[in-house]
Amino acid sequence: MGVSLVCTGCGEQVDDEKALRCPGCDGPLELPEIVGSRPGPWVPGETLIERYKDFFPFANGRADLSLGEGFTPLVKLDGIGKRLGLSVLWGKNEGANPTWSFKDRGTLAGVIHALESGYSRIGTVSTGNMAASVAAYGAKAGLETVILVGRGLPREKLGPIAMYGARLIKVDGDYGRLYYESLRLAKDRNIAFINSDAPFRVAGSRTIAYEICEQLNFTVPDWVLIPVSAGGNFRGIARGFREFFLSGLIDKVPRLMAVQADGCSPVVRAFEEGSPKVDRFDSPHTVAHAIENPFPPSGNEVLRLVRENGWSCRAVSEDSILEAQRELAMEGLFVQPASAVSLAALKDAVRDGLVESGQSAALVLTGSGLKYTAVFGQHDLTWEESTLENLGNALDRR
Ligand SMILES: *Cc1c(COP(=O)(O)O)cnc(C)c1O
Ligand SMILES: [Zn+2]
Repeated sequence: MGVSLVCTGCGEQVDDEKALRCPGCDGPLELPEIVGSRPGPWVPGETLIERYKDFFPFANGRADLSLGEGFTPLVKLDGIGKRLGLSVLWGKNEGANPTWSFKDRGTLAGVIHALESGYSRIGTVSTGNMAASVAAYGAKAGLETVILVGRGLPREKLGPIAMYGARLIKVDGDYGRLYYESLRLAKDRNIAFINSDAPFRVAGSRTIAYEICEQLNFTVPDWVLIPVSAGGNFRGIARGFREFFLSGLIDKVPRLMAVQADGCSPVVRAFEEGSPKVDRFDSPHTVAHAIENPFPPSGNEVLRLVRENGWSCRAVSEDSILEAQRELAMEGLFVQPASAVSLAALKDAVRDGLVESGQSAALVLTGSGLKYTAVFGQHDLTWEESTLENLGNALDRR
């Protein structure tokens, strides 16, 4: 394939397509910016990678490896939008992906890259959604797949990963160290680790931005709010809007907001302290488990993007996350707490006057609520009971 990668930290060009981080400064690597042409009318059966083939350096889009990822609905959230005084509020429902989170976009790109680069095994380090996604695509591709998780991962989170038949290894040690260790071990073993900020995983997230542009007929909302953990998805979406802008397909890039939970907000803290680098966040704890990464491998890059573009980042309280989750469900979208942070942040930003009335916004609703059913215990959910004989009366009561 012979694609060179660029370091997000020092700008160095790295001519090893298998590299995952910069040999010089250890920054995450990425694909160079790609300028492409406007996708034609969608043809039935067209896959995500085929649709945006101009923007991927693949020899073959490998439709045979697709599970139908992407092309997720952009849903109008009329009630919430009206209450907040916005002209329009959208929710990009990434729970509609094959393994119920946006991760599938980047996983497929990572798998195609692995195969084109001659890898024989794939793997990932993840606490949840990335693990399920890589396991699923590994199964589809018939590839030997290893999933490394932290030892503390509860049983109910292991089942949905193990189901796909990948090798699942619980490893003693914290997630941050496991990430670096996986890169070291993978090198000699010909395993493509599709981790949270692997260049092609991030490249896959660009398609969220491409789709939003297409779904709005090549316009963009004023704001796009994105939950941030490792930071790969934020980087990908930022890059996606920029590439469509450079390609002349949209006439401006929206303002992005990076959102974290108060209980684990290393990027927001660095931003507010004016610090040049993101430091490890001690004792992280939040109901938004899917974004509980205390030392995000792409944190510095998210920080830089937010600063350089005059974008925004903020953290939200536990109560506001649960409230936002319930509000979204009341509009028909049951998302993970990690996704609901986007609405919680939007409400705060409207209150502060940062997001102004009459503006438009889109929430990237990163994953399905069914991924984390333990949250039911934290909502005040009620139901009624009735005998069959009294059911008529019960229905008459309104
Ligand atoms: C992975 C994930 C995120 C965070 O994405 P990063 O690329 O790690 O920043 C947010 N929400 C959900 C549901 C996720 O699975
Ligand atoms: Zn570098």
